[in-house]
Amino acid sequence: STPAPLSTLSAEDLAARLSAARADYESLKEAGLKLDLTRGKPGADQLDLSNGLLGLPTTYRSADGTDLRNYGGLDGLPELRAIFADLLAVDVASIVAGGNSSLTLMHQALTAMLLKGGPDSPRPWKDEPVVRFVCPVPGYDRHFTMLAELGIEMVSVPMNADGPDVEAVRALVTDDPSVKGMWIVPTYANPTGATCSPEVAEALMSMPTAAPDFRVLWDNAYAVHHLTDEETVSADALGLAAAAGNPNRPILFASTSKITFAGAGVAVLATSPENRAWYLQRLGFASIGPDKLNQLRHVEFFTDADGVRAHMRKHRDLIAPKFGAVEDALASRLDGLGIARWSAPTGGYFVNLDVLDGTATRVVALAKEAGIALTPAGSAFPYGNDPDDRNIRLAPTFPVLSEVQAAMAGVAVCVELAALEKLSA
Ligand code: PMP
Repeated sequence: STPAPLSTLSAEDLAARLSAARADYESLKEAGLKLDLTRGKPGADQLDLSNGLLGLPTTYRSADGTDLRNYGGLDGLPELRAIFADLLAVDVASIVAGGNSSLTLMHQALTAMLLKGGPDSPRPWKDEPVVRFVCPVPGYDRHFTMLAELGIEMVSVPMNADGPDVEAVRALVTDDPSVKGMWIVPTYANPTGATCSPEVAEALMSMPTAAPDFRVLWDNAYAVHHLTDEETVSADALGLAAAAGNPNRPILFASTSKITFAGAGVAVLATSPENRAWYLQRLGFASIGPDKLNQLRHVEFFTDADGVRAHMRKHRDLIAPKFGAVEDALASRLDGLGIARWSAPTGGYFVNLDVLDGTATRVVALAKEAGIALTPAGSAFPYGNDPDDRNIRLAPTFPVLSEVQAAMAGVAVCVELAALEKLSA
């Protein structure tokens, strides 16, 4: 039988339910858990899938005979760029392969826009009275903290099931030249799991913007991170932007952080010829070339893009059950109560949990007291401010399955208790 929504309970039933939830919470605390669902890190078993890298590379020469132990090759190893070109469905000539972190590439692109301006900038962004960015929410906390660090103001738009809310973006960018760019995680977004449709991508790449140097930082961190047989294809941002006459608008980012080793992978960006030349010129003042031996060992390990795809299926086999455990724990306690909604992602690293408005902070605090670490409420919003105090990002990949089960059963207790407290107040 379907349970009644909590908001329909009589005062008496509510009181009974509250004391039952309190008792459950006390037992939870007595269990003395010490579990962490805060960050989207690969589990040790996932890292083990790539241990073959530890014995590679077997040579130090590229296909064309270049000695990769030495300086040079600022735009990265061509063989590695070819693999990413295939995975991201872009031209190999658009790609730069760099170090271990795509976040660093995003930071470099932004600081270069601030200090120097892009090919189409009237002046460096630092010389503008104010620079603003459009931020789909909920979104990736590190995108937002990076902007805060760089002094770029943030304006939120809703992240819908098919990508950022196009009309909300349009309203911000059409007349205001201080709005210089936006973030998007186009595939299996952090944290909602949503994928940007080709229609939304087309609108974002073609819409008129008051800023001539408007940038879309297209962070495709989860392009190949499928959780089901349905392997979502990312929209073609570069092709759509070029076709619309805005070739410099998008800069794509990706990395192997959640493919091989999160701390020792390779990151790439892909963009228009003009943007790429601009980026490499800036980079030339900061580096004499990337770690091409790390790039080579990734090429040897995977051989080609199909090697990556096969590898990702092994990840899926390890982590899909953890996402299933999140769903089971939430559904078995909370289904029908009308106090929570959560995503059923088909890829990526997160489950997005929306609890009763005004209770997310309380849920996270209750969980913490019971030994379950959750990402702070509000982290998926600019300035850490969730106006509805309802959003919680769950990251189930790092703990082992039994820990995910225990932690999520506990989280469900906390969600119910916080809602009952609120409804009884
Ligand atoms: N972008 C998104 C959307 C992420 O979720 C993450 C975190 N895993 C990153 C970028 C970080 O990527 P990298 O390790 O390549 O810096």
